[in-house]
Amino acid sequence: MPQTAQSSPATRSTSAKQYYRVAVPSPLRRLFDYLPAKSDTTTAHPGSRVRIPFGARRVTGVIVDIVSETDVPASKLRPVDAVLDREPLFNSAMLSLLQWAANYYQSPIGEVFAAALPARLRAGEGLTSLEENWRLSADPLENSQAESATALLKRSPRQLALYRLIAENREMSTEAIAEQGFGRPILRKLQERDLVECHHDAPPPRPHFSSHDFLADGERLQLTNEQEQAVAALNASPTQFGSYLLDGVTGSGKTEVYMRAMAQQLSLGRQCLVLVPEIGLTPQTIARFTERFRCPVVTLHSGLNESERLASWTAARDGSAGVIIGTRSALFTPLASPGILIIDEEHDASFKQQDGFKYSARDLAVMRAHAEGMPIVLGSATPSLETLHNAIAGKFTHLRLSNSTASLPRAAIELVDVAEQHLQEGFSQTALQRLREHLERGNQCLVFINRRGYAPVLHCTNCGWQSECDDCLAQMTVHRTPPRLRCHHCGISVALPKSCPNCKSRHFDTIGLGTQKAERFLQSQFPSFPVIRVDRDSTRGKAGLDRALTKVGEEKPCILIGTQMLAKGHHFPNMTLVIILDADGGLFSADFRGQEHMAQLVTQVAGRAGRAKKRGEVLLQTKHAAHATLQALSNESYAQFSARQLDERLNAKLPPFSHLALVRVEASDAMAAAGFAEAIAQLSAQLSSDERLGVELIGPLPAPMEKRAGKFRVQLLLKSERRGSLQDHLNYLVSNSEQLKKPPGLRWSVDVDPQDMI
Ligand code: ADP
Ligand code: ZN
Ligand code: ZN
Repeated sequence: MPQTAQSSPATRSTSAKQYYRVAVPSPLRRLFDYLPAKSDTTTAHPGSRVRIPFGARRVTGVIVDIVSETDVPASKLRPVDAVLDREPLFNSAMLSLLQWAANYYQSPIGEVFAAALPARLRAGEGLTSLEENWRLSADPLENSQAESATALLKRSPRQLALYRLIAENREMSTEAIAEQGFGRPILRKLQERDLVECHHDAPPPRPHFSSHDFLADGERLQLTNEQEQAVAALNASPTQFGSYLLDGVTGSGKTEVYMRAMAQQLSLGRQCLVLVPEIGLTPQTIARFTERFRCPVVTLHSGLNESERLASWTAARDGSAGVIIGTRSALFTPLASPGILIIDEEHDASFKQQDGFKYSARDLAVMRAHAEGMPIVLGSATPSLETLHNAIAGKFTHLRLSNSTASLPRAAIELVDVAEQHLQEGFSQTALQRLREHLERGNQCLVFINRRGYAPVLHCTNCGWQSECDDCLAQMTVHRTPPRLRCHHCGISVALPKSCPNCKSRHFDTIGLGTQKAERFLQSQFPSFPVIRVDRDSTRGKAGLDRALTKVGEEKPCILIGTQMLAKGHHFPNMTLVIILDADGGLFSADFRGQEHMAQLVTQVAGRAGRAKKRGEVLLQTKHAAHATLQALSNESYAQFSARQLDERLNAKLPPFSHLALVRVEASDAMAAAGFAEAIAQLSAQLSSDERLGVELIGPLPAPMEKRAGKFRVQLLLKSERRGSLQDHLNYLVSNSEQLKKPPGLRWSVDVDPQDMI
């Protein structure tokens, strides 16, 4: 029953005023107060959406709080148009988390809620709109209706066809109608003519998955001792917050540990939310979970259309899905019965959102697990230094799986010193020789090159001119299939020049090596074996990667060439040789995380070799074979490398031993960008050293990528050993910077705990 304000005296006195405090989609870092709707028929709760007037627009916001006092003068207060949800979309733990996140990441609260909602809910559609059903309008003259409709629609064959379709089916959902090729506009036309009507039926009650349905199918593996211990730790207190690092080498059976903990949760009627990296959510990954659990498993990722996304979201929220697998933003999916949170490959960069609301899904996941009282597992073969630090500090329980489940020991990384060698298109003789041996033995090989395209630079052999993107002041990559120059920073592409823009010479050459060039070269070297390339260009469209992986899955000898897309999770039993062509860039990166990222990538790629019964080999070509990081990866392990890196970070007072925030300013006019960044720096400088709370400000400095997509970029780095001090300083800086006069077209943003310093 709809309630009016007067009808529930227990919760509202007639005199007590109520105001809705609403998160509104806008770049403003604040909430807005509204009055209840004039004819208030729906009880509103924090977490319900409202349609509201905002300036001259009508937008959808979310009530964050209902309060009895407001600072807004009565004359300025406007009522909401309508309350859109009887039941709140978010519980109080999620509401607090989202507000905390807005505050911590200095992000407008409206943007935070926008990130947490599927687009269709953001647009104000009802949660039940999936159940929108169409029927013929009731007509007292029944039989004559069909005839009159036929006459009426004589000149509108499409409408007539749709009319007949609905008549035949008696009742159809909007979705079913869309599947037959009829969109909303045509439905509306029939509705305007009063020929069909729409019923918003309540969705059929969904069964809560029952704890008996999930029963694990298939093989019951005998767990290793280490797996046993990890599972025991996770299952010891399954209904309480606890954070765990599952630190297990590739192939050590981390997924099996996740699944045992998930089975325990499902048997308690609790749901499991699994986050995976963007390129890790392959059909193979999903299949492992759907084959194992008989409860509904839903996914949330960028490949879904909006109806599918809403359906998954709804199934998570109403409790009908037992397992929810998704990428970064799936973290915000409400769960009817939160059981466990799992972050697979927790070190992966895709868990950090790079624009807009720049949150870390991994870090927020720990907050969420705490707020909702559930265990959280961060799993990786190469944990981030932040997570390792938390484990050492005792915040996370450190669970280790140090052995691969395969009976053979893992392949050591063999360094091939190419400082003095002549290379053929980037390949040493050793590498080519080894490829030949493995192929001839009937095995598969992986060549890892972290650069797509043909070659990173085109240059004129006469005058030395190089292809450069004017908008980014960066080199443009040469592509051969199709032939173009492409900027990997802003995405523009141009035709390959016929003659040098500088000296008109027609003699060009390329410098360096990309996947396309390697593909061509290796095909010429090994004409009788298939060469399969996997990178973002070759896998455009959903099926590309699958097709390539299926081919490799046939286990015939071949060479697989690819970028970091191949570093993740794929399991190729017949792959015995991995060649990493060039990892030297990471050794001397300007980014302090350069070595960490390089070590993670190398370890993950190396883990693709010899995962089953055949012994694997890993070659890494380098000009810096004596470098301590390479020596550590080759002779020791990622664990020893990371321990040493942590020492270095401690000495340099870098994260995780200090906290960073990056203020970025971008404008088409270089002077404007520099001037605004300087003004922000001045705000900081106005504080006394006491007020600065030990926060160090570095800059303004040009960003490592000084220009990108036509915008000049300047940045300020804030650093502090105390997170709270950094937060206080940021609050001051951001609220005052918002008052600064901003030149038109200039944009500035804050990135808290930045991952990428470019
Ligand atoms: P990770 O995620 O740690 O790289 P996976 O979970 O993918 O490892 O496991 C690698 C392979 O080992 C899979 O084929 C899996 O089925 C198998 N496996 C896992 N646990 C065991 C076990 N206890 N005994 C035998 N094989 C196992
Ligand atoms: Zn030239
Ligand atoms: Zn560019």
